[in-house]
Amino acid sequence: MTDLRAALAPDDAHLRKLWRSRVLPELRVPCSLHLSSRMVGQQRWACAWQDARGRFHIAMHPGLPYEFAVDLMIHELAHLDGIMAGALHHDDHGPIWGASYSHWYQIVMRTA
Ligand SMILES: [Zn+2]
Repeated sequence: MTDLRAALAPDDAHLRKLWRSRVLPELRVPCSLHLSSRMVGQQRWACAWQDARGRFHIAMHPGLPYEFAVDLMIHELAHLDGIMAGALHHDDHGPIWGASYSHWYQIVMRTA
């Protein structure tokens, strides 16, 4: 039987490359991407938060198919603006999140 994690690991490398080349140059706040096996037991694919020192973090389930992981990364990036705006619920997908999602979609998906 194929080792699924080993088969999908190249997608994690591609995602990290996308993070470095497209996202990091555009981030206005310090933010780290974690492809963490700790997500595996939490019954969720990803989350975003700000730590006590003000640094932002996005944690994602490792080994996701690349297209799914990219969409999820954009989704979580869109939560950063909501967190900065003091959104009470980080899971809110309201107007701030929607505008931010569009912003990050354009940055991450542009082909030039
Ligand atoms: Zn969300």
